[in-house]
Amino acid sequence: MTGAGAEIHERIAAEISKLADTLIELSLDLHAHPELALKEKYAASRLTGLLREDFLVEEGVGGLPTAFRASAGVGSPVLAFLCEYDALPGVGHGCGHNLIAAGGAGAALALRRAAPELPGTVSCIGTPGEEGAGGKVVLLEAGVFDGVDAALMFHPGDMTMPIRHATANRRLDVEFHGVAAHAAASAHDGRSALAAMIQFFVGVDALRQFVPETSRMHGIITHGGEAPNVVPAYTRAEFMVRALTSDVVDDLAERVEAIAGAAATATGTTVTISRGIGYAERKNNHVIAELVAGHLRRQDVPVEQPVLRGGTGSSDIGNVSLVLPAIHPYLQVMDRGTPSHSLAMAEAVAQPRAQEAMLRMATALACAGADLLADPEIFDAARAEFATRGPDLPE
Ligand SMILES: [Zn+2]
Ligand SMILES: [Zn+2]
Repeated sequence: MTGAGAEIHERIAAEISKLADTLIELSLDLHAHPELALKEKYAASRLTGLLREDFLVEEGVGGLPTAFRASAGVGSPVLAFLCEYDALPGVGHGCGHNLIAAGGAGAALALRRAAPELPGTVSCIGTPGEEGAGGKVVLLEAGVFDGVDAALMFHPGDMTMPIRHATANRRLDVEFHGVAAHAAASAHDGRSALAAMIQFFVGVDALRQFVPETSRMHGIITHGGEAPNVVPAYTRAEFMVRALTSDVVDDLAERVEAIAGAAATATGTTVTISRGIGYAERKNNHVIAELVAGHLRRQDVPVEQPVLRGGTGSSDIGNVSLVLPAIHPYLQVMDRGTPSHSLAMAEAVAQPRAQEAMLRMATALACAGADLLADPEIFDAARAEFATRGPDLPE
């Protein structure tokens, strides 16, 4: 397997150099305009504006107004570089999606500009709402990934790693409905939705010892009542259940729902539970991830591959990765130990160090894409691995 060859790799690096100022400015502009999941109007318009220079752009694909698909070339294989661009409440781009967006679009543009003679289609898919809204799951179900042969993206972090596992998860919105009454004069006529909520959280704590160590159950109460002198008639919590695989998540979700039902029975209230979109475990494509790792090392980026261990975060790339070959490598853009989803990360992802790393990753992703398009043997190896390997799980 020879890949695309050094000359094409050099042309890609040259295109990324030409795009560097544009991509850095774009990453900073998105950073300065943080938008929450599925509300990323500004980011989607900036990204499609840039991609339109070389690609045919469809906006609002899959029924999501801030999703898009940009494509150039003909027929198969179809490569998709994925962009995420949603921010978080309170910490803005504390997950660094501004870098994912600019790097993903940069990789697609550089590959297309450097090697338009390669067979197949290069596309860039804008996947909104990674933070909780499961944008990629919606796009998958709507057929936006139909015909895509491989999906490539990266995520900023405190370490560069080609492969990492992710937990599956599901969100549960739990609402208790009781009866309001004067909290002193006629409390006996009331039924407290807050008492039910407290029982629910205590009940989940009693479950913790009896679930796999890598499982997580956590939530917040978003509505706890109206006034201290009124028996609360309505309470609401947003809750999440995580485990190594979706099967275990579904089992845990049922047990958590049973606790909510028992809390309602115990307090004379009723409960309604709505299940959110489930995020699946991740099946990294090691063939493609190793291509990217090789192109990072070639640019003197140190690449590590620590043993997979313990519980960790989740992403809707997991659902994509179970359907087609996909990668989600991590790129060091900040000091080791800097927490994600933090103000510290939000600050780090706007620094020159992060921007330089992003450009090297965009180069590596585009070079790996060129290898896949230029060398059918490599694409066959990636497909064969997809057909036989299961999701990555910790020891
Ligand atoms: Zn995140
Ligand atoms: Zn993220």
